[in-house]
Amino acid sequence: MQYPDDEKVTDDFELAGVPDSFQRLWTPYRMAYVKGGQHQFQDKDDCPFCAAPTRSDEQSLIVHRGQSCFVLLNLYPYNPGHLLICPYRHVPNYDDITAEETAEMGALAQHSMRVLRQVSNAKGFNLGMNQGLAGGAGISAHLHQHVVPRWGGDGNFFPIIANSKAISATLGEVRSEVANAWDQV
Ligand SMILES: [Zn+2]
Repeated sequence: MQYPDDEKVTDDFELAGVPDSFQRLWTPYRMAYVKGGQHQFQDKDDCPFCAAPTRSDEQSLIVHRGQSCFVLLNLYPYNPGHLLICPYRHVPNYDDITAEETAEMGALAQHSMRVLRQVSNAKGFNLGMNQGLAGGAGISAHLHQHVVPRWGGDGNFFPIIANSKAISATLGEVRSEVANAWDQV
């Protein structure tokens, strides 16, 4: 999605203090857009995580397709490179997945960390799964694990919890960088 004013609000400084390949944009006006994304999908038929693998990697921001799980960029990133790991199956909870899916999800989370370290010099991570509406899941009907890269100085965790920080490199560019590095790391 293109926002014509993006160039005007580009920050010059490096939030991390360490040069990397991700450009960061400070786009507080995207708040409405981020909030607009909190619609709850319950059915398989209108589930974005079920639809994603049926489209191209570029269209769905997919960086890797595994056997039982796939990895894609979050359309509503907390930080550039914010990845989501999903089973292909439409199940809501972590304790709904098989041993095979659990193992692959774990392996993909580890690999995501290695890739993000390489492409963006990430210094830390937040890994997590929000379970159920009460647990804060944006799309509670389809399990997904967040992998959020962190840098020293990228802000405290409050704006991340509050969803008020929308720093976004062009999602398509980040997708190709992460996807290209995926098999090399
Ligand atoms: Zn689904």
